[in-house]
Amino acid sequence: MILRHIRTALFFMSPLLPSLASANFSIETDFPGGNALVEKIEGNVVHIAPDNRDSRLPWFYWYFAIKGAGGQTVTFVLNPMHIGARGPGISTDGGATWSWLGAESAKDGTFSHTFPAAANDVRFSSGMPYVKSNFDKFLAAHKDNPFLHVETLAKTGKGRSAPLLLLTDSQRKAPYVVALTARMHCCEMMGSYVLEGIIEGVLANDEYGQWLRKNVDFFIMPFSDFDGVEDGDQGKNRTPHDHNRDFGDGSIYPEVIALKERLPAWSNGRPLVFFDIHNPALKGDVHEVIQFLAGESPEQADSLAKFAALLERNQQGELLFRQNMIMKFGTGYNKWSETPPPISSGWARTLPNCILSATLELPYANASAMTVNADSARSFGRDIAWALKSFLQENPAAGRQ
Ligand SMILES: [Zn+2]
Repeated sequence: MILRHIRTALFFMSPLLPSLASANFSIETDFPGGNALVEKIEGNVVHIAPDNRDSRLPWFYWYFAIKGAGGQTVTFVLNPMHIGARGPGISTDGGATWSWLGAESAKDGTFSHTFPAAANDVRFSSGMPYVKSNFDKFLAAHKDNPFLHVETLAKTGKGRSAPLLLLTDSQRKAPYVVALTARMHCCEMMGSYVLEGIIEGVLANDEYGQWLRKNVDFFIMPFSDFDGVEDGDQGKNRTPHDHNRDFGDGSIYPEVIALKERLPAWSNGRPLVFFDIHNPALKGDVHEVIQFLAGESPEQADSLAKFAALLERNQQGELLFRQNMIMKFGTGYNKWSETPPPISSGWARTLPNCILSATLELPYANASAMTVNADSARSFGRDIAWALKSFLQENPAAGRQ
Protein backbone atom coordinates (compact mmCIF):
# COMPACT_ATOMS: atom_id res chain seq x y z
CA MET A 1 0.00 0.00 0.00
CA ILE A 2 2.77 2.38 0.92
CA LEU A 3 4.61 1.46 -2.25
CA ARG A 4 1.54 2.41 -4.23
CA HIS A 5 1.52 5.77 -2.53
CA ILE A 6 5.09 6.43 -3.35
CA ARG A 7 4.44 5.52 -6.95
CA THR A 8 1.39 7.81 -7.06
CA ALA A 9 3.31 10.68 -5.56
CA LEU A 10 6.20 10.27 -7.95
CA PHE A 11 3.90 9.83 -10.91
CA PHE A 12 2.11 13.10 -10.28
CA MET A 13 5.28 14.87 -9.17
CA SER A 14 3.09 16.63 -6.66
CA PRO A 15 4.89 19.47 -4.92
CA LEU A 16 3.24 18.33 -1.71
CA LEU A 17 4.01 14.74 -0.79
CA PRO A 18 1.14 12.75 0.73
CA SER A 19 1.39 11.89 4.38
CA LEU A 20 2.45 8.36 3.77
CA ALA A 21 2.41 7.31 7.40
CA SER A 22 -1.24 8.11 7.99
CA ALA A 23 -2.89 6.97 4.75
CA ASN A 24 -3.95 3.37 4.42
CA PHE A 25 -5.61 3.56 1.04
CA SER A 26 -4.33 4.59 -2.37
CA ILE A 27 -5.47 7.06 -5.00
CA GLU A 28 -4.80 5.77 -8.50
CA THR A 29 -5.23 7.02 -12.05
CA ASP A 30 -3.31 4.44 -14.07
CA PHE A 31 -6.28 3.28 -16.16
CA PRO A 32 -8.01 4.64 -19.30
CA GLY A 33 -9.43 8.10 -18.67
CA GLY A 34 -7.62 8.53 -15.35
CA ASN A 35 -6.75 12.09 -14.36
CA ALA A 36 -5.98 13.63 -10.97
CA LEU A 37 -3.32 15.47 -9.10
CA VAL A 38 -3.07 14.33 -5.49
CA GLU A 39 -2.04 17.55 -3.79
CA LYS A 40 -1.84 16.09 -0.31
CA ILE A 41 -3.27 13.42 1.95
CA GLU A 42 -3.69 14.23 5.62
CA GLY A 43 -5.12 11.32 7.54
CA ASN A 44 -8.35 10.47 5.74
CA VAL A 45 -8.58 13.85 3.98
CA VAL A 46 -7.45 13.88 0.33
CA HIS A 47 -6.86 17.08 -1.61
CA ILE A 48 -7.43 16.50 -5.33
CA ALA A 49 -7.10 18.73 -8.40
CA PRO A 50 -7.56 18.20 -12.15
CA ASP A 51 -4.39 17.61 -14.11
CA ASN A 52 -4.58 20.24 -16.84
CA ARG A 53 -1.69 18.80 -18.86
CA ASP A 54 -1.41 20.77 -22.12
CA SER A 55 -4.60 22.80 -21.76
CA ARG A 56 -3.85 26.51 -21.93
CA LEU A 57 -6.68 27.42 -19.56
CA PRO A 58 -7.65 25.66 -16.33
CA TRP A 59 -10.32 23.01 -16.85
CA PHE A 60 -12.23 20.71 -14.53
CA TYR A 61 -11.99 17.07 -15.59
CA TRP A 62 -10.73 14.58 -13.01
CA TYR A 63 -11.20 10.83 -12.55
CA PHE A 64 -9.52 8.65 -9.93
CA ALA A 65 -9.89 5.32 -8.15
CA ILE A 66 -9.52 4.88 -4.43
CA LYS A 67 -8.39 1.43 -3.42
CA GLY A 68 -8.14 -0.21 -0.04
CA ALA A 69 -10.57 2.19 1.64
CA GLY A 70 -13.10 -0.48 2.70
CA GLY A 71 -14.66 0.28 6.09
CA GLN A 72 -13.27 3.81 6.18
CA THR A 73 -14.72 7.27 5.72
CA VAL A 74 -12.62 9.47 3.46
CA THR A 75 -13.07 13.18 2.77
CA PHE A 76 -12.12 14.66 -0.59
CA VAL A 77 -11.36 18.34 -1.03
CA LEU A 78 -11.49 20.01 -4.45
CA ASN A 79 -12.08 23.43 -5.93
CA PRO A 80 -15.88 23.95 -5.70
CA MET A 81 -15.90 24.77 -9.44
CA HIS A 82 -14.62 21.27 -10.17
CA ILE A 83 -17.69 19.49 -8.83
CA GLY A 84 -20.82 19.55 -10.98
CA ALA A 85 -24.45 20.39 -10.33
CA ARG A 86 -25.31 16.94 -8.95
CA GLY A 87 -22.10 16.23 -7.09
CA PRO A 88 -19.33 13.88 -8.20
CA GLY A 89 -19.93 10.80 -10.31
CA ILE A 90 -19.34 7.49 -8.53
CA SER A 91 -18.74 4.02 -9.96
CA THR A 92 -18.36 0.83 -7.94
CA ASP A 93 -17.83 -1.46 -10.95
CA GLY A 94 -14.56 -0.16 -12.30
CA GLY A 95 -16.08 2.61 -14.43
CA ALA A 96 -18.66 0.50 -16.28
CA THR A 97 -21.67 2.30 -14.80
CA TRP A 98 -22.04 5.57 -12.93
CA SER A 99 -24.38 7.56 -10.72
CA TRP A 100 -24.24 11.02 -9.16
CA LEU A 101 -23.54 11.29 -5.44
CA GLY A 102 -26.15 14.06 -5.38
CA ALA A 103 -26.27 17.84 -5.25
CA GLU A 104 -26.22 17.79 -1.45
CA SER A 105 -23.21 15.49 -1.27
CA ALA A 106 -20.64 18.22 -1.79
CA LYS A 107 -20.31 21.47 0.08
CA ASP A 108 -17.67 24.05 -0.78
CA GLY A 109 -15.91 21.50 -2.95
CA THR A 110 -15.73 18.90 -0.18
CA PHE A 111 -17.43 15.52 -0.05
CA SER A 112 -17.05 12.49 2.17
CA HIS A 113 -17.75 8.87 1.48
CA THR A 114 -18.00 5.88 3.79
CA PHE A 115 -16.82 2.80 1.96
CA PRO A 116 -18.44 -0.59 2.63
CA ALA A 117 -16.04 -3.07 4.16
CA ALA A 118 -15.78 -5.04 0.92
CA ALA A 119 -15.19 -1.99 -1.31
CA ASN A 120 -11.85 -2.02 -3.04
CA ASP A 121 -11.91 -0.11 -6.33
CA VAL A 122 -14.31 2.84 -6.12
CA ARG A 123 -14.12 5.51 -8.82
CA PHE A 124 -15.00 9.19 -8.53
CA SER A 125 -15.08 11.80 -11.28
CA SER A 126 -16.31 15.23 -12.29
CA GLY A 127 -18.61 13.36 -14.71
CA MET A 128 -19.42 9.83 -15.80
CA PRO A 129 -16.28 8.77 -17.68
CA TYR A 130 -16.72 6.86 -20.92
CA VAL A 131 -13.71 5.33 -22.64
CA LYS A 132 -13.08 2.74 -25.34
CA SER A 133 -14.00 -0.17 -23.04
CA ASN A 134 -17.45 1.36 -22.50
CA PHE A 135 -17.90 1.70 -26.25
CA ASP A 136 -16.75 -1.89 -26.82
CA LYS A 137 -19.26 -3.13 -24.27
CA PHE A 138 -22.02 -1.19 -26.03
CA LEU A 139 -21.01 -2.55 -29.44
CA ALA A 140 -20.84 -6.11 -28.12
CA ALA A 141 -24.57 -5.94 -27.45
CA HIS A 142 -25.10 -5.28 -31.19
CA LYS A 143 -22.28 -7.39 -32.60
CA ASP A 144 -24.49 -9.55 -34.80
CA ASN A 145 -26.27 -6.61 -36.38
CA PRO A 146 -25.39 -6.65 -40.10
CA PHE A 147 -25.97 -2.89 -40.33
CA LEU A 148 -23.09 -2.09 -37.93
CA HIS A 149 -19.52 -1.85 -39.21
CA VAL A 150 -16.49 -0.83 -37.18
CA GLU A 151 -13.39 0.36 -39.03
CA THR A 152 -10.23 2.24 -38.18
CA LEU A 153 -10.65 5.92 -38.95
CA ALA A 154 -6.99 6.82 -38.42
CA LYS A 155 -3.88 5.98 -36.49
CA THR A 156 -3.64 8.57 -33.74
CA GLY A 157 -0.55 10.56 -32.88
CA LYS A 158 0.26 7.93 -30.25
CA GLY A 159 -0.37 5.00 -32.61
CA ARG A 160 -3.81 3.97 -31.41
CA SER A 161 -6.50 2.94 -33.90
CA ALA A 162 -9.27 5.53 -33.65
CA PRO A 163 -12.57 3.79 -34.43
CA LEU A 164 -15.02 4.76 -37.12
CA LEU A 165 -18.53 3.34 -36.88
CA LEU A 166 -20.61 3.03 -40.02
CA LEU A 167 -24.28 2.15 -39.83
CA THR A 168 -25.08 1.14 -43.36
CA ASP A 169 -26.50 -1.58 -45.54
CA SER A 170 -23.42 -2.81 -47.36
CA GLN A 171 -25.58 -3.93 -50.29
CA ARG A 172 -26.66 -0.45 -51.29
CA LYS A 173 -26.33 3.27 -50.68
CA ALA A 174 -29.05 5.12 -48.79
CA PRO A 175 -30.31 8.46 -50.13
CA TYR A 176 -29.20 10.47 -47.06
CA VAL A 177 -26.08 10.65 -44.88
CA VAL A 178 -25.88 11.62 -41.21
CA ALA A 179 -22.46 12.20 -39.67
CA LEU A 180 -22.01 12.31 -35.90
CA THR A 181 -18.88 13.28 -34.01
CA ALA A 182 -18.21 13.31 -30.28
CA ARG A 183 -15.30 13.95 -27.92
CA MET A 184 -13.69 16.71 -30.00
CA HIS A 185 -12.98 17.91 -26.47
CA CYS A 186 -12.04 14.55 -25.06
CA CYS A 187 -13.20 15.13 -21.49
CA GLU A 188 -16.81 15.77 -22.61
CA MET A 189 -17.94 12.23 -21.96
CA MET A 190 -21.66 12.75 -21.48
CA GLY A 191 -21.96 13.18 -25.25
CA SER A 192 -20.95 9.53 -25.67
CA TYR A 193 -24.16 8.41 -23.99
CA VAL A 194 -26.17 10.56 -26.41
CA LEU A 195 -24.32 8.85 -29.23
CA GLU A 196 -25.25 5.43 -27.81
CA GLY A 197 -28.89 6.53 -27.76
CA ILE A 198 -28.82 7.71 -31.37
CA ILE A 199 -27.26 4.40 -32.43
CA GLU A 200 -29.90 2.48 -30.45
CA GLY A 201 -32.58 4.51 -32.22
CA VAL A 202 -31.13 3.65 -35.62
CA LEU A 203 -30.77 -0.05 -34.81
CA ALA A 204 -34.17 -0.37 -33.12
CA ASN A 205 -36.66 -2.79 -34.53
CA ASP A 206 -39.41 -0.21 -34.84
CA GLU A 207 -40.73 1.96 -37.64
CA TYR A 208 -38.19 4.72 -36.90
CA GLY A 209 -35.23 2.37 -36.97
CA GLN A 210 -36.47 0.63 -40.07
CA TRP A 211 -36.93 3.92 -41.91
CA LEU A 212 -33.53 5.22 -40.82
CA ARG A 213 -31.70 2.06 -41.85
CA LYS A 214 -33.39 2.13 -45.22
CA ASN A 215 -32.87 5.80 -45.95
CA VAL A 216 -29.76 6.96 -44.08
CA ASP A 217 -26.12 5.91 -43.96
CA PHE A 218 -24.50 6.94 -40.67
CA PHE A 219 -20.84 7.98 -40.38
CA ILE A 220 -19.92 8.10 -36.69
CA MET A 221 -16.69 9.27 -35.11
CA PRO A 222 -17.16 8.31 -31.44
CA PHE A 223 -13.75 9.49 -30.17
CA SER A 224 -12.57 12.50 -32.15
CA ASP A 225 -9.59 12.93 -29.80
CA PHE A 226 -9.00 9.26 -29.10
CA ASP A 227 -5.60 9.61 -27.40
CA GLY A 228 -7.07 12.26 -25.13
CA VAL A 229 -10.02 10.05 -24.18
CA GLU A 230 -7.85 7.07 -23.29
CA ASP A 231 -5.15 9.14 -21.60
CA GLY A 232 -7.67 11.14 -19.57
CA ASP A 233 -6.74 14.56 -20.90
CA GLN A 234 -8.89 17.67 -20.64
CA GLY A 235 -8.56 18.27 -24.38
CA LYS A 236 -10.33 21.62 -24.18
CA ASN A 237 -7.97 24.44 -25.19
CA ARG A 238 -5.23 21.94 -25.88
CA THR A 239 -1.92 23.43 -27.08
CA PRO A 240 -1.47 24.66 -29.81
CA HIS A 241 -5.21 24.34 -30.41
CA ASP A 242 -7.76 21.68 -29.59
CA HIS A 243 -9.35 19.22 -31.96
CA ASN A 244 -12.42 21.37 -32.45
CA ARG A 245 -10.25 24.30 -33.57
CA ASP A 246 -8.44 22.14 -36.10
CA PHE A 247 -10.85 22.48 -38.99
CA GLY A 248 -9.25 25.41 -40.78
CA ASP A 249 -6.41 24.98 -43.25
CA GLY A 250 -3.47 22.84 -42.16
CA SER A 251 -5.22 20.44 -39.78
CA ILE A 252 -2.76 18.67 -37.47
CA TYR A 253 -4.71 15.86 -35.77
CA PRO A 254 -4.96 12.51 -37.62
CA GLU A 255 -8.63 12.00 -36.68
CA VAL A 256 -9.57 15.45 -38.01
CA ILE A 257 -7.54 14.99 -41.19
CA ALA A 258 -9.21 11.60 -41.76
CA LEU A 259 -12.69 13.02 -41.19
CA LYS A 260 -12.06 15.85 -43.66
CA GLU A 261 -10.89 13.34 -46.25
CA ARG A 262 -13.31 10.51 -45.75
CA LEU A 263 -16.70 12.09 -45.05
CA PRO A 264 -16.95 14.15 -48.29
CA ALA A 265 -15.89 11.12 -50.33
CA TRP A 266 -18.17 8.74 -48.46
CA SER A 267 -21.24 10.99 -48.62
CA ASN A 268 -20.47 11.59 -52.30
CA GLY A 269 -22.91 14.43 -52.80
CA ARG A 270 -25.80 12.87 -50.91
CA PRO A 271 -27.70 15.28 -48.60
CA LEU A 272 -25.80 15.40 -45.31
CA VAL A 273 -26.80 16.20 -41.74
CA PHE A 274 -23.86 16.71 -39.36
CA PHE A 275 -24.01 16.96 -35.56
CA ASP A 276 -21.00 17.42 -33.31
CA ILE A 277 -21.84 16.52 -29.71
CA HIS A 278 -20.30 18.43 -26.80
CA ASN A 279 -20.77 19.20 -23.12
CA PRO A 280 -20.45 22.84 -21.97
CA ALA A 281 -18.85 23.97 -18.70
CA LEU A 282 -19.56 21.89 -15.60
CA LYS A 283 -22.31 24.07 -14.20
CA GLY A 284 -23.88 27.54 -14.35
CA ASP A 285 -27.03 28.99 -15.94
CA VAL A 286 -26.17 28.75 -19.62
CA HIS A 287 -24.45 25.41 -19.06
CA GLU A 288 -27.46 23.66 -17.51
CA VAL A 289 -29.70 23.71 -20.54
CA ILE A 290 -29.53 21.73 -23.78
CA GLN A 291 -28.41 23.95 -26.65
CA PHE A 292 -27.90 23.59 -30.36
CA LEU A 293 -25.48 26.17 -31.79
CA ALA A 294 -26.83 27.45 -35.09
CA GLY A 295 -24.80 28.05 -38.22
CA GLU A 296 -24.07 31.39 -39.84
CA SER A 297 -26.35 31.31 -42.89
CA PRO A 298 -30.12 31.87 -42.88
CA GLU A 299 -30.55 28.54 -44.65
CA GLN A 300 -28.68 26.68 -41.91
CA ALA A 301 -30.53 28.54 -39.16
CA ASP A 302 -33.80 27.67 -40.85
CA SER A 303 -32.85 24.00 -41.14
CA LEU A 304 -31.89 23.84 -37.48
CA ALA A 305 -35.15 25.54 -36.45
CA LYS A 306 -37.10 22.92 -38.39
CA PHE A 307 -35.14 20.09 -36.82
CA ALA A 308 -35.58 21.58 -33.34
CA ALA A 309 -39.34 21.88 -33.83
CA LEU A 310 -39.53 18.22 -34.81
CA LEU A 311 -37.33 17.22 -31.87
CA GLU A 312 -39.66 19.04 -29.49
CA ARG A 313 -42.71 17.51 -31.14
CA ASN A 314 -41.45 13.92 -31.16
CA GLN A 315 -39.52 13.71 -27.89
CA GLN A 316 -40.38 10.88 -25.54
CA GLY A 317 -37.21 10.72 -23.48
CA GLU A 318 -36.40 11.95 -20.01
CA LEU A 319 -34.76 15.24 -20.98
CA LEU A 320 -36.97 18.12 -21.98
CA PHE A 321 -36.12 19.91 -25.19
CA ARG A 322 -37.75 23.08 -26.43
CA GLN A 323 -37.29 24.42 -29.93
CA ASN A 324 -36.05 27.73 -28.60
CA MET A 325 -32.99 25.97 -27.11
CA ILE A 326 -30.92 27.24 -29.99
CA MET A 327 -27.98 29.58 -29.57
CA LYS A 328 -28.16 31.78 -32.64
CA PHE A 329 -24.99 32.51 -34.55
CA GLY A 330 -23.35 35.63 -33.15
CA THR A 331 -24.91 35.26 -29.69
CA GLY A 332 -23.69 33.81 -26.39
CA TYR A 333 -20.52 31.84 -26.98
CA ASN A 334 -21.56 31.08 -30.55
CA LYS A 335 -19.53 34.11 -31.68
CA TRP A 336 -16.64 33.80 -34.09
CA SER A 337 -14.17 36.04 -35.83
CA GLU A 338 -14.14 33.69 -38.82
CA THR A 339 -17.09 32.57 -40.92
CA PRO A 340 -17.60 29.70 -40.98
CA PRO A 341 -15.80 29.08 -37.70
CA PRO A 342 -12.89 26.60 -37.87
CA ILE A 343 -14.82 24.00 -35.87
CA SER A 344 -16.14 20.67 -37.05
CA SER A 345 -19.74 21.79 -37.55
CA GLY A 346 -18.51 24.95 -39.31
CA TRP A 347 -16.33 22.88 -41.62
CA ALA A 348 -19.25 20.57 -42.40
CA ARG A 349 -21.32 23.56 -43.46
CA THR A 350 -18.79 24.28 -46.17
CA LEU A 351 -19.63 20.97 -47.85
CA PRO A 352 -22.00 21.65 -50.76
CA ASN A 353 -24.22 18.70 -49.84
CA CYS A 354 -24.67 19.77 -46.20
CA ILE A 355 -28.31 20.57 -45.47
CA LEU A 356 -27.87 20.93 -41.70
CA SER A 357 -24.81 21.10 -39.44
CA ALA A 358 -24.77 22.16 -35.81
CA THR A 359 -22.98 21.72 -32.51
CA LEU A 360 -25.00 20.13 -29.70
CA GLU A 361 -24.23 21.04 -26.10
CA LEU A 362 -25.62 18.56 -23.58
CA PRO A 363 -25.17 19.59 -19.94
CA TYR A 364 -23.12 17.31 -17.71
CA ALA A 365 -25.61 16.74 -14.92
CA ASN A 366 -28.51 19.16 -14.93
CA ALA A 367 -30.63 20.00 -18.01
CA SER A 368 -33.46 22.42 -17.21
CA ALA A 369 -33.71 20.87 -13.72
CA MET A 370 -33.76 17.31 -15.08
CA THR A 371 -31.02 14.82 -14.30
CA VAL A 372 -28.55 14.05 -17.04
CA ASN A 373 -27.09 10.58 -16.61
CA ALA A 374 -26.28 7.68 -18.91
CA ASP A 375 -29.91 6.61 -19.26
CA SER A 376 -31.45 10.04 -19.77
CA ALA A 377 -28.69 11.05 -22.20
CA ARG A 378 -29.37 7.86 -24.18
CA SER A 379 -33.08 8.65 -24.21
CA PHE A 380 -32.27 12.08 -25.63
CA GLY A 381 -30.16 10.36 -28.27
CA ARG A 382 -33.13 8.22 -29.29
CA ASP A 383 -35.22 11.40 -29.50
CA ILE A 384 -32.61 12.82 -31.87
CA ALA A 385 -32.76 9.68 -34.03
CA TRP A 386 -36.54 9.95 -34.29
CA ALA A 387 -36.34 13.65 -35.12
CA LEU A 388 -33.81 12.87 -37.85
CA LYS A 389 -36.36 10.58 -39.48
CA SER A 390 -39.04 13.24 -39.38
CA PHE A 391 -36.64 15.95 -40.56
CA LEU A 392 -35.45 13.98 -43.55
CA GLN A 393 -38.96 12.80 -44.39
CA GLU A 394 -40.56 16.22 -44.08
CA ASN A 395 -37.67 18.25 -45.47
CA PRO A 396 -36.50 16.39 -48.52
CA ALA A 397 -33.24 17.97 -49.48
CA ALA A 398 -33.32 17.06 -53.11
CA GLY A 399 -35.19 20.20 -54.05
CA ARG A 400 -32.97 22.51 -52.07
CA GLN A 401 -29.53 21.64 -53.34
ZN1 LIG B 1 -16.70 20.97 -26.29
